[in-house]
Amino acid sequence: MNDDSNELIEMLRDSREYAKFLGELGIESMSLTAENPQPASLNSAAAVQPARTTPAVSRPIPEAQAPPASIPKPKVSSPSAPLDFLFGELAPPPPTFAQSQETLNDIWSDIGDCTRCGLCEGRTQVVNTFGNPKARLMFVGEAPGADEDAQGKPFVGRAGQLLTKMIEAMGMKREEVIIGNVNRCRPPGNRQPTLEEAAICRPFLFREIAAIQPEIIVVMGNTALRNLLEVREGISRVRGKFQDFRGIKVMPTFHPAYLLRDPSKKRETWEDLKMVRDHLESSAGKRSS
Ligand code: URA
Repeated sequence: MNDDSNELIEMLRDSREYAKFLGELGIESMSLTAENPQPASLNSAAAVQPARTTPAVSRPIPEAQAPPASIPKPKVSSPSAPLDFLFGELAPPPPTFAQSQETLNDIWSDIGDCTRCGLCEGRTQVVNTFGNPKARLMFVGEAPGADEDAQGKPFVGRAGQLLTKMIEAMGMKREEVIIGNVNRCRPPGNRQPTLEEAAICRPFLFREIAAIQPEIIVVMGNTALRNLLEVREGISRVRGKFQDFRGIKVMPTFHPAYLLRDPSKKRETWEDLKMVRDHLESSAGKRSS
């Protein structure tokens, strides 16, 4: 078979997979043009505006922001542990996450009925990370919205329903993965968490990551991106390229709430998720623990 035939077969395969992805998302019809190769017609479920009003672009997180002294550090075995204890995040982060000895329950009981930042005043409950504690794949978003605040679980509202469809389009079940947020309390009016609020809550996410040791983390949107990776660029520039977070592969992509606002971005999101799926497929069975 010549190169042209192979390319054509590859294109057909991609189109078939993309059509399947759109089908999973409930998109029944689309019209494509050369000028605008994006779906032009979407069903009502995908096209309705999201509840979240946060702007898509966030301010960068300063690199050396120390959490308050009251936040206990993870029991992670690393040569820099004493320094971390003295200086919090001012000490350079270890290059890789060592397997943590603590369980998710240890971390959650430490979080307790948290009052470490002002977000506790408006929340109904703390929304901890939820899912398979041995997941190979983790998703990280920004902060709970109204539905999550009411139900105590991350991504259960409209953005969460879209996330479930995205996971299923990858050939996985939601129960197989684990899903969390940078912040665990709903910000008033669904505003973006401040730098300080994110810096106070983020260490708990890092401890969870050390306990779970996922193979890949999908960071969804700018808040998740900038709290895990030291990048200045926004999600549109960084998405679709695997990054490294202390030895763990990270795929940045658009936040599902943003996809509800701009469904044309589903195409790029699907490209990103296919890379994640392909990597997980190619590394299946290679995990040591
Ligand atoms: N958006 C988020 O970032 N997290 C949720 O849990 C829900 C919506």
